[in-house]
Amino acid sequence: MKYDNYAPKLNFNKNKNVYEKEVDGFKVYLKDWQYMVLSIASFYIPTDKEILSGDKKKIEAEIDNACALYTVANTNDTLIVTLSDGKKDSDKTLDAINKEIEDTVKLLKEMGYNPMKVCPICKKEAQYLEFGDDFLPMHEDCKASFVEKLEAKVKQESGFNIKYLLSILLSILFAGIGIVPAILWTYFGHDYFTLVIVLCPIGAVLGYYLSHATPRLWLRIVTGIIPLIIIACFMVFAFNYIAEYKEMTIGAYLGNFKYGLRKLIFGSILAFAGFGLTRYIYKFQHDNAKRLKKFKD
Ligand SMILES: [Zn+2]
Repeated sequence: MKYDNYAPKLNFNKNKNVYEKEVDGFKVYLKDWQYMVLSIASFYIPTDKEILSGDKKKIEAEIDNACALYTVANTNDTLIVTLSDGKKDSDKTLDAINKEIEDTVKLLKEMGYNPMKVCPICKKEAQYLEFGDDFLPMHEDCKASFVEKLEAKVKQESGFNIKYLLSILLSILFAGIGIVPAILWTYFGHDYFTLVIVLCPIGAVLGYYLSHATPRLWLRIVTGIIPLIIIACFMVFAFNYIAEYKEMTIGAYLGNFKYGLRKLIFGSILAFAGFGLTRYIYKFQHDNAKRLKKFKD
């Protein structure tokens, strides 16, 4: 586990998936904060009510580390604080993290926040339990019924879904529209600007996104392949067309960096953009199967 090297030195107790400890009545646990494409080592503190964004900003300024708000079930009742930079097993960094945790707890108390006491599912008092990779007051029964519902959702999503088809059709449609400017440019201008090709993968990913299909790896791959094929076909057409107009052989056109080679290289790179874009978007998508896995690990 990511925190194995230094969490015990900070007096965190290891549960199956979570390192946690108690500081002045508050439970603090370690977990990565997913920010865009980054996974940032952080600590989480569940509180008894919604944390106001003004308070979050004050804490952020005071302890000089990025903070964010989070919740498992209600509204932003958990504070995320990124761990101090530096080599995590050096004493200096460990001291800084300890101070950071203590200061954050002190500030939360001063601002009138108390530790989370009730189970977010039934709203009754409960002992702290592991909940996936979170740690909060929870009843075993509530957790079991939550996992059961999640399992049912995953099962329901497991077969073929009409939205997959919709996603593929929309991707083809929008990617097709996305390549039109490049085709027109080639046809009427006998040349084109390489970056305009990127509208094609953007279109494909837009189609995937708008379909709200369950994020499946195979679907992301298909979404990436659609613009790849369209751009490859486009380049075959465009290079032949432009070379002919310039009265060059296709070999001479593509061998010249200023003419074809540059477009071939950048066009080929951009043809793969759909894979990168779907990967990026996946970070923001709900994936019940992925969530369930955290409970089963
Ligand atoms: Zn409960």
